Amino acid sequence: MTLSEIRRSLERLGTEPTRSLGQNFLHDQNLARAIVAGLDIRPGDHIVEIGPGLGALTAHLARPDVRLTLVEKDGRLAAYLSEKFATPDIRVVHADALDLDLRELWGRGPVKVVGNLPYYVSTPLIAKFTSALSPASRLVLTLQLELALRLNAAPRTKAYGAMTVCVNRRWRTSLLRRLPASVFFPVPKVDSAVVALDRRPTADVCPLDEPDFDSLVRRGFSERRKQLRNLLPELKPTWPQLVTALSVPETVRAEELALAQWEFLARLRRPALAQSGAEMFDVVDASDRVLRAEPRDFVHVNNLRHRAVHMILSNRAGEILLQKRSIWKDRNPGLWDASAAGHVDSGEDYPEAAARELREELGVACPPLVRIGKLTPCEQTGHEFIEVYTGSHEGPFFPAPLEVETVAFFPAQQVFEWVASSPSDFSPVFLLCLGLLKNPAAP
Ligand code: SAM
Repeated sequence: MTLSEIRRSLERLGTEPTRSLGQNFLHDQNLARAIVAGLDIRPGDHIVEIGPGLGALTAHLARPDVRLTLVEKDGRLAAYLSEKFATPDIRVVHADALDLDLRELWGRGPVKVVGNLPYYVSTPLIAKFTSALSPASRLVLTLQLELALRLNAAPRTKAYGAMTVCVNRRWRTSLLRRLPASVFFPVPKVDSAVVALDRRPTADVCPLDEPDFDSLVRRGFSERRKQLRNLLPELKPTWPQLVTALSVPETVRAEELALAQWEFLARLRRPALAQSGAEMFDVVDASDRVLRAEPRDFVHVNNLRHRAVHMILSNRAGEILLQKRSIWKDRNPGLWDASAAGHVDSGEDYPEAAARELREELGVACPPLVRIGKLTPCEQTGHEFIEVYTGSHEGPFFPAPLEVETVAFFPAQQVFEWVASSPSDFSPVFLLCLGLLKNPAAP
C-alpha cells in the first residue's frame, strides 16, 4: 500500500492509527513484497498473518493456491479486511492473536506465520507461535530492532540473553533485513527488522527436559553480572567438574555460554533418560499366548510378536485428547498419537500396562477404561497385539517431558477430518485405533 492509499483507507473508515494497538502501517510496496518472499510460500500452505492492519502484506500473500487466516484485534480493520479480501480461502478472525486457539490450525495444510507485529505484544506472540502446540514451520516477523537483535545475538554481547538461548534451541533464527522507521505511518520511535524463524530438524535438537532447561537458563540470566555458580546453587558441589567439562573458568557468567554449552550443562545435571533397550517384553504366539520374555531391542530387531496398549481419552465436551510424541522417540517421533500408549512389560497384563502408561506419560491416575478392540500383529502395528481403550478425563495432565511433546483436546470431528486430509501427521497405529471409534459426522 502507498502512503496515500493508507491515508484514504483510514479516512474512509473514519479512524486514525491507534497507538495502544501498535498501529504503524507499512507503506513501502517493495518491502512488503520482500517480507512475503521471505516466507517461501508453497502451494497448499496455510498462512497465518498476525495483525494484518489495512492489508499491506496481505495483498501480496493472497493467491489461489494458499489458505489465509488473518488475525486482527481492531474490529474496524477486521471488518475492512473481510470486505477487501472476501474469498472462501481467506478467513478473517477478529481476535487478539494471543487468544487464537492454535489447535484450530492443525490439519489445514503446512502452517507459516507472518506479521509486522505490534511491538507491545511481540514477545508473548513469539512465545505462543514457537510453543509445542504451534504447527508453524516458519515465521517471518517484523520486530522492533532491539528484539530482533536479541533473537540473533551471539554470546558475550549485551543483546544475548535467556530468550536468545531458549528460542534458538528449537528454531534457527536469521535477520533478513533492517527497516528504517520511515517506512511506516505513523513513523514509530524505533527502527525495525525482519526476522525469520525456522523450526530446526529433529536431528539437530538434543534431547532435554524442556521446562527444566528453560528454567535453568532463565535463572542463569536473572542477574547478568553475577557468576553462574552463585545463581545455580544446586550445582555448587559439582561446579569444578562441570566447568572443566565445559572448558570455561569457574567464574563464568550466563552470557559467556553458547547454546550448546547450556545444553551440555543441562544434560550433565539431568542426564536424559534414553529409552532402555534392556526392558523386557513378553514374546507371544499368534494367539497372544506368552512364549518367553526377551529384551526390547531383540524383540524389535527380530520383529517378534509382543503386546501394547493405546488409550484414547475424551472430556465431557466429547473432545479427544491427542498426544504429540516427543521428537526423540525411536518410533514415530513428533507425530500425533493416542492420548497415551506403550508396551506391555513382561509379567504385566494389558490393563496394568494401560494404567502404568497413563501415569508415566500423562501423570494421571487411571480413569475407568473401556476396551474397544484389539488389533492383531502386522507391520503397521509393529508386530504388536494392541488392546485399545477409551476413558474419560478432564485433566490436568502432566506430560513426561522426554516422552511427550505436548497433549491437547481436539474436537472429535476435527480429528477425523485431519486424519483424512493429513494422515502422515499421525502415527500409523493411531490411524488403526481411530478406526475403532465412531466418527461423529458419519451417518
Ligand atoms: N500488517 C500491517 C502493516 O504492515 O501495515 C499492520 C501492522 S501494525 C504494526 C500492527 C497491527 O496489529 C495493527 O493492525 C493492530 O491493530 C494489530 N494488532 C495489535 N494488537 C494485536 C493483537 N494482540 N492481536 C492481533 N492483532 C493486533
